[in-house]
Formats: sequence, C-alpha cells, structure tokens
Amino acid sequence: MRNPYLSRKRTERRNNLEESNQNRRGLLIVNTGEGKGKTTAALGVVFRALGRGKKCGVVQFIKGKWETGERKFAKTIPELDFHVMGLGFTWESDDLDRDKTAAKQAWELSKKMILSGEYDIVVLDEITYAFHYGWLEVDETVRILRERPSQVHVIITGRNCPEPILQQADLISEIRSVKHPFQSGIKAQIGIDF
Ligand code: ATP
Ligand code: MG
Repeated sequence: MRNPYLSRKRTERRNNLEESNQNRRGLLIVNTGEGKGKTTAALGVVFRALGRGKKCGVVQFIKGKWETGERKFAKTIPELDFHVMGLGFTWESDDLDRDKTAAKQAWELSKKMILSGEYDIVVLDEITYAFHYGWLEVDETVRILRERPSQVHVIITGRNCPEPILQQADLISEIRSVKHPFQSGIKAQIGIDF
C-alpha cells in the first residue's frame, strides 16, 4: 500500500530539488493587445513579487491626466521604485518635442535600472507608444534587453509591440477585447481604470 503521506513528502522533496536545479533566468514578458489588463497584469506580478521580498521597479512612459491609484499606493511601499516619466498623451499634447525628451529620459532611467542588476523585476509600462511615435529606437532597446544581467525580469506593456521585441520575448500575452464598458457609454472608473 502506498503511504500517501510519504508519497507527498517525496513529491515535495522532488519539487524543491527541481526548483533549485531549474535553469532559471530572467524573462522578457510582453503584455500587448487591444483589451484591458496590460498594465494591471504587470502590476499584479509586481504585487506578487513584492510579497516574495523581490525588488521591483516601474517606469511609466505615459502620464495621463489623472493621478492613478497605483501611483498613490506605490508611494507607501519603500521596496517599490515607481517613476512616472512620460508627459502626456500625444493627442492632448501641445509640444511633441517635450514628449520626446520625456520619453528619452524615461528610457535612460529604465536602462540604468535594468543594467544595474539591482532589480528583480523592471516594468516598462506603455513603452510601446514611444516606439510608435519614433521617440525611441527599437534596436537600442532590444540590445539593452539582450545585454541585461541574466536574472533580471523585464515586463513590457502596451499595444502594437514591435516585432523585434516580440521575437526576443519569452512570454507574450495578447489581451483581446471581448467587451468593454466604454462601448456602453460607461466612463473610466476610479479604482478600476485609474
Ligand atoms: P489597465 O491599465 O486597466 O490594465 P491597459 O494597460 O490594458 O489597461 P491601456 O491601453 O493602457 O490599457 O489603456 C488604459 C485605459 O484604457 C483604461 O482605462 C482602460 O479601461 C481603457 N481601455 C483598455 N482597453 C480598452 C478597450 N478595448 N476599449 C476601451 N477602453 C479600453
Ligand atoms: Mg496600460
């Protein structure tokens, strides 16, 4: 007769061993697509990782009109470095050069954070827009991602992620919009959208 207790112990031991032996390395994770959940899924991983004592950094490449819940909450968590660097949505902006400069500054900071090896996870939120508007070069980003310390996880969010980044990614989730309250005229809501 199999002793279920012993068998569970054996499985546990094997799992622990597998975990320590695993060929673990930092992942490049991309959350893209038209549906809602790209940024919030990235922040969900940060939430999880903070619970494991990991050091996390977030750089937001777009700053909307509103203060967001995540920014307010981040200020209360010392282990989380949260930077809002972008200036505005282009369609609201009166000065594209200023937006470009802001995007470049955001990238310089992101690069430092990624290459320092100090962070377990770095989130580049909405960086894809900066490629779309030609503010950042995809090739340079791909090169830095390739050169990063091997244990560093990077999460990229935003619609229309450029192909070279997708090719390099280990995990790509494309979020499809099936229904959105916006289509029924329901506006963005505090705590859900910002
Ligand atoms: P979230 O930050 O909520 O995870 P996201 O990062 O996937 O959203 P973004 O493209 O950054 O999406 O847009 C953020 C805002 O746009 C949110 O307020 C969200 O509700 C809204 N939004 C996202 N997807 C759609 C959609 N398919 N139709 C209309 N509005 C959307
Ligand atoms: Mg987003």
